[in-house]
Amino acid sequence: MAETDRVAYDQAVEELRLREYPMLQGTTYLDHAGTTLYAKSLIERFSTDMMSHLYGNPHSASNSSQLTTRRIEDIRLRLLGMFRADPAEFDVVFVANATAGIKLVMEAFRDQEEDYWYGYHRDAHTSLVGVRESASHHRCFSSDAEVEEWILAQDTQPASSTLALFAYPAQSNMNGRRLPLNWPRRLRINRNSNVYSLLDAAALVSTSPLDLSNSDDAPDFTVLSLYKIFGFPDLGALIVRQRASAIFDKRRYFGGGTVESVVCLKEQWHAKKETIHERLEDGTLPIHSIMALDAAISVHQELYTSLKEISKHTTFLASKLYSDLLSLTHGNGNKVCHIYQDISSVYGNSSTQGPVVAFNLQTQHGGWVSNAEVEKLAAIKNFQLRTGGLCNPGGVASSLDLAPWEMRANFSAGQRCGNDNDIIRSKPTGMIRVSLGAMSTLRDISRFTDFVREFFVQDAPPAAILPVTPTHTEPPTWGRFHVESLSVYPIKSCAAFSVPPGKAWEVRREGLAWDREWCLVHQGTGAALSQKRYPNMALIRPSIDLEEGVLRVRLVGHLQKNSTVNEITVPLSADPRLFSDHSMYKEANAKVCGDDIKAKTYKSHEISSFFSQALGVACHLARFPAVGNGSGPLACSRHSKPHLQKKQKASDMHVPGAFPELRATYPGATVSKPILLSNESPILTISRSSLNRLNELIKAEGGKAAQAEVFRANIVVAENLDCAPGTEQAYAEDDWRYLQIGEQYFEMLGPCRRCQMVCVDQQTAERNQEPFVTLSKTRRFDGRVYFGEHTSHLPMEDTATPSAQNPTISVGEPVRAFLEDEVHDDDEGLSALLHH
Ligand SMILES: *Cc1c(COP(=O)(O)O)cnc(C)c1O
Repeated sequence: MAETDRVAYDQAVEELRLREYPMLQGTTYLDHAGTTLYAKSLIERFSTDMMSHLYGNPHSASNSSQLTTRRIEDIRLRLLGMFRADPAEFDVVFVANATAGIKLVMEAFRDQEEDYWYGYHRDAHTSLVGVRESASHHRCFSSDAEVEEWILAQDTQPASSTLALFAYPAQSNMNGRRLPLNWPRRLRINRNSNVYSLLDAAALVSTSPLDLSNSDDAPDFTVLSLYKIFGFPDLGALIVRQRASAIFDKRRYFGGGTVESVVCLKEQWHAKKETIHERLEDGTLPIHSIMALDAAISVHQELYTSLKEISKHTTFLASKLYSDLLSLTHGNGNKVCHIYQDISSVYGNSSTQGPVVAFNLQTQHGGWVSNAEVEKLAAIKNFQLRTGGLCNPGGVASSLDLAPWEMRANFSAGQRCGNDNDIIRSKPTGMIRVSLGAMSTLRDISRFTDFVREFFVQDAPPAAILPVTPTHTEPPTWGRFHVESLSVYPIKSCAAFSVPPGKAWEVRREGLAWDREWCLVHQGTGAALSQKRYPNMALIRPSIDLEEGVLRVRLVGHLQKNSTVNEITVPLSADPRLFSDHSMYKEANAKVCGDDIKAKTYKSHEISSFFSQALGVACHLARFPAVGNGSGPLACSRHSKPHLQKKQKASDMHVPGAFPELRATYPGATVSKPILLSNESPILTISRSSLNRLNELIKAEGGKAAQAEVFRANIVVAENLDCAPGTEQAYAEDDWRYLQIGEQYFEMLGPCRRCQMVCVDQQTAERNQEPFVTLSKTRRFDGRVYFGEHTSHLPMEDTATPSAQNPTISVGEPVRAFLEDEVHDDDEGLSALLHH
């Protein structure tokens, strides 16, 4: 078809998309090829069907039951028809998903009297790889050539060869390359061989037809994920070639409707049903899902005509995306996208390549951009894409050139699907995958390419685009800064409580008093809830009422509608009777940034239901154990204390994810600050001048200025009004080493790494793009975005004075900043502290 026709088709899809799925406006859907979003038409048709017919459970004689049976038989036929499969040659078994279909085949082989051999292609999805565990021997083919060689060897095999199963994906779910479909036929050339073929077509059929019209060429077993074609219903299918069905005769399980007659007592006997699907569909079928499948096939055909048409459309889009991404270069001419393309694949040729582009991004100097960083920005910009290992261990390992020992070493170094340490030994451990489907349009392609250009193409040497950190020529003047505000977050991830001006607030080693003393834990998993997943937590406003001795929690904004009670109080005293008992303290494991932290949950039903109703998730309030007066071992029980290895020199640190070179690249790296690996620290300090600078840039681009609260800062330091206007020192804190606030000293521990959580508006709980977008353009160092400084209090050694026994700070107090080399000569108090 000519390109102009393709563009016309694309425009039709674009219109369709806006009509059928207005929610997709502003969202670019680039995950799960073929998960078509034509929800409205489909659900309406399904609901009409449900409202106008009475469907009973099959297996009985009632009219409703007979109707169900009749419909299901028709739909089965219709599904086979989609793949041009003759019902005399094939049968279709409904299963939960493609994996369940693979498992049925695996069980059949496992239940044979003889052992079996299993071979699978390197590009296999994990669901195929797992079959090897039940085989007596198995082999992973590391290339198509190896498969070809093995097939040729089959032809010369002697007659009584062993039972074997060969499995491969029709399309790699990693990079979308399409594998040859003639292997099953060629495996049959030797009539004596006992090799069966299993084709995983889950990825292929989402955007491509599959032709089973010649049963001599067809795989013995073909598995599909129907939801990858239609989006809904959640169903899979196993298509069995009748001539291979004898393998199921040895099946050692039966249940529900899969047998005709069962004798249980005395004699043990059962008669198996005739057809393959009757024998393999254990228990009651998901009848309503199967009805929905009928509606899905109809709507899909009406909107997109056919899988053949979808294939042309997506092939056209993918080759455009591929060439657009490939053509992106940095100012110095280096490539931006490293695309993982199979040697046999050609974009634009639908028999070798599906509409998927898998790649990693590189900096202008050839370093790898972290997937986690891309994912955060993509989330802000509403791109739905996938990163990481992509459930394809063999494909990922060979594309990324990771040896088995490296995969293992990476695993023990803490690398898991979806975490931040995704570049190890300067190799990426995962990749970015963009998948196109029936509903994708040219606009998606250009939006995505623009996104990569906007955030990852470096036009000039990085030094020029970063804000210039002012050099401090003048000595820091006592009183240039003051504490503008103090905030605590009594319940982790909920709203801030502002310390009233003039109120002396206690500061401890583990942070400001009452800061993150409580958290909310999920009743099922025990994990601490956070705004990243539950942005409405911003509308839960805790306050510390020292007069009444209570923590007061109020719901604001739209959360007030969720609950009949809008305020509760919890005693500040940690009365043990309040907590879940059995052994008095029942400890919940709150996972805070991956660390297990023991918190005790409140047993009060009122408290749990207040928070559960407000957020719409079953949770408990929990409290971290008391920490005494801030010294002794207990002081370490809160706020991920293991990270505060202050005494450790950075050069001694060899922790997974911390690279020695990091020291040279994070802001203020010339200062010998220890690096925190976690975004947890006792105190977070931000500078008003830096926030002003950031907001100027945001406003210049027409964005919405950020409030200090989104950074979850405890201390906001501002320059005094009498400082000459225009001399504000944005990001001066990068170079600070110590702070003095009133009579107290603090150490700066390093810059704070940021994620998209800073985009949750703390007044409305809505997600914005800012300030993360502007931060990532101006404060990104080595792929990490920083704003604010981790800070910890330095307790005084001389404990005889009131200010040492009860250290406090308050709003309005003067602040003095020390640079690295100013410490010892300048201040007796501080140098005494440090030398002690
Ligand atoms: C998605 C996918 C699977 C797994 O399918 P489920 O329906 O989730 O079981 C297996 N193989 C490939 C190639 C896939 O794309």
